[in-house]
Amino acid sequence: MNHNQHFEHLLKKHQLKRTEPRLRVLSLLADKKVATSQPDLEGVIGDVDRVTLYRILSAFEEKGIIHKVFDLNGTANYALCSSDCDEHDHHDEHLHFNCTNCKNVYCLDELDMPPIVLPSGFKLENLSFSATGLCPKCVNKKL
Ligand SMILES: [Zn+2]
Ligand SMILES: [Zn+2]
Ligand SMILES: [Zn+2]
Repeated sequence: MNHNQHFEHLLKKHQLKRTEPRLRVLSLLADKKVATSQPDLEGVIGDVDRVTLYRILSAFEEKGIIHKVFDLNGTANYALCSSDCDEHDHHDEHLHFNCTNCKNVYCLDELDMPPIVLPSGFKLENLSFSATGLCPKCVNKKL
């Protein structure tokens, strides 16, 4: 399956109509190693206006296709979800690494996070892990 077929499948699975701007947003987010803000997307997406882009991002977030994460400036960034997210359940319980130098946010999906067992009486609704430090690119620059 190539990139585009995969994205078309993804849209279908989440009952979203296949449109060119939607496919473009998916492929831009998939190409990036870091979470991406709306202004950054606007800069590269071409002729998709701001309102359309905003609607696409909110629909994707609601459907469990992307998740939002805030960087150290407080700007919302978006990253693709793992395939087991859906409309009712986002499972983006991976570590978000915030680089203090370039302000990029990395989704570190490959790390196994320890299961969290809460004391009795607590009901978990949302769990997030975040770390700050220097990303590999910035560590090398500082050497
Ligand atoms: Zn998710
Ligand atoms: Zn960095
Ligand atoms: Zn993430």
